[in-house]
Amino acid sequence: MKFIRYRDFDGSVSYAEGSSIQDALQLEGNPFSGFTRTNQKANVAKLLSPVEPAIVFGIGLNYRRHAEETGASLPTNPVLFFKGPNTVQNPGDPIVLPRHLKSDEVDYECELAVVIKETCRNVPVDKALDKVLGYTCANDVSARDWQKIYAGGQWCRGKTFDTFLPMGPWLVTADEIPDPQILPIRTVLNGETMQESNTSDMIFTVAELVAYLSGSTTLYPGSIIITGTPEGVGMARKPPRWLQAGDQVTVEIDGIGSLTNPVIEEDLS
Ligand code: ZN
Repeated sequence: MKFIRYRDFDGSVSYAEGSSIQDALQLEGNPFSGFTRTNQKANVAKLLSPVEPAIVFGIGLNYRRHAEETGASLPTNPVLFFKGPNTVQNPGDPIVLPRHLKSDEVDYECELAVVIKETCRNVPVDKALDKVLGYTCANDVSARDWQKIYAGGQWCRGKTFDTFLPMGPWLVTADEIPDPQILPIRTVLNGETMQESNTSDMIFTVAELVAYLSGSTTLYPGSIIITGTPEGVGMARKPPRWLQAGDQVTVEIDGIGSLTNPVIEEDLS
């Protein structure tokens, strides 16, 4: 089953549930705090990011071949950073290159996003997937100059500009993805495949990440975990390939969906 979040032609925002956008039926409420089903067909004017998270847990260096391409040693515990709600962008809406606080090195990262179902804490690995509502595609857009050089060695500045977390196009419920570690995942930039991997290359599995992040730490419904990116990022290419205005970036995960966003420059006028 898929959950979509959408704006209808009257401008109101709802969730709907179905096997496709065409047959999705509107919900009263939402998948996190509870809903009732209706018989009303979803009247979708615009698909929105399927979740508006209060917090996004970002995991760095979680694919073996990506850790190798960056020259980093394999982490012994997950590398954690945060993205805020300002970063969330809808399917089809633009990734905005920062021009006020200027970056010349904005990069794409295809990622499997995990959506937490219910409040939980100290979850054991073998129960961790029970706490997952579902999955969606994410692009962990990253300004490498602010991530690596200008921000004191902390990654968050470079990963938290507005629009730096496109998500969607919908949420696929966990019952359709019994094993999240066998999913082909790729980034396609202007029709050219830049990243092509499989979630089997993850160092820490989705279950291990949920267990680790919930350790002595409360996770809330609708929290998002973006689980790291595979090799092939623009930074590691020779020469590097930075996002430019006019680009079209697509993140695809087989069994989940395809998320496309254009790239524009921030308008300072
Ligand atoms: Zn990332």
